[in-house]
Amino acid sequence: MLGNIHSTESFGTVDGPGIRFVVFFQGCPMRCLYCHNPDTWSAEGGTKMSAAELLAMYTRNQVFYKDGGITATGGEPMLQLPFLTELFEAAKKQGIHTCLDTSGICFDPEHPEQTDRLLAATDLVMLDIKQIDDSLHRKLTGHSNRRILAFADRISSKSVSLWIRHVIVPGWTDTPEEQEALGFRIGGLKTLKALDVLPYHNMGRSKYEAMGIPYPLADAQPVSQDEAMKAKAAILRGIRRRLHESSAGYAEGR
Ligand code: SF4
Repeated sequence: MLGNIHSTESFGTVDGPGIRFVVFFQGCPMRCLYCHNPDTWSAEGGTKMSAAELLAMYTRNQVFYKDGGITATGGEPMLQLPFLTELFEAAKKQGIHTCLDTSGICFDPEHPEQTDRLLAATDLVMLDIKQIDDSLHRKLTGHSNRRILAFADRISSKSVSLWIRHVIVPGWTDTPEEQEALGFRIGGLKTLKALDVLPYHNMGRSKYEAMGIPYPLADAQPVSQDEAMKAKAAILRGIRRRLHESSAGYAEGR
């Protein structure tokens, strides 16, 4: 089987724990207004590669990956589910830590079992939740967040470690009410291990210009680290409220 690969990075440090071999999959059905990888959107293009070829690239530098592993990102890796599953199963046979960086948009809540083989070969999922309010999510990404939240529940039910990523975008995800609501929702996920709150930046702008696509957030200013930290505090408040209510409910039910 061959995957359609946009590119690879030998020494990734922001896509999971440790130093990682990062595989960028070609193709994404979402159209997030702040996407900084519009060159990965099209399912066409990219380079056809086998799992064995990718793992051979990993092996060449494996001395550097002892606390890291392999990360599949994109684009949207789950758009190529059979190939992604083959890659992760082959990696697990070699004892390699596997991390899936995904939007979760390809998960089908009517057929949740379709991703179970993939999850069985995945050590960590980094799931991007773009906006907890569904109508805003549709405007921000072109899709409902229903599949994404259902995938979060499936990951948790399969006991796979989960990191949630959330980008603070001016005018879109920057109110404490939305952030706390997000926290309340993800506070119910049993395998939640980390929360990564990222400030919006406009470094992808030049790619839009090169591709001749209007940059959708032309007026948005980059968000500071300080603002991102305040947003993280609001999300954590929501998580704590959920945990408190769950434990109170447990105590009442005893
Ligand atoms: S899911 Fe990721 S790659 Fe796809 S449009 Fe959104 S930010 Fe870009």
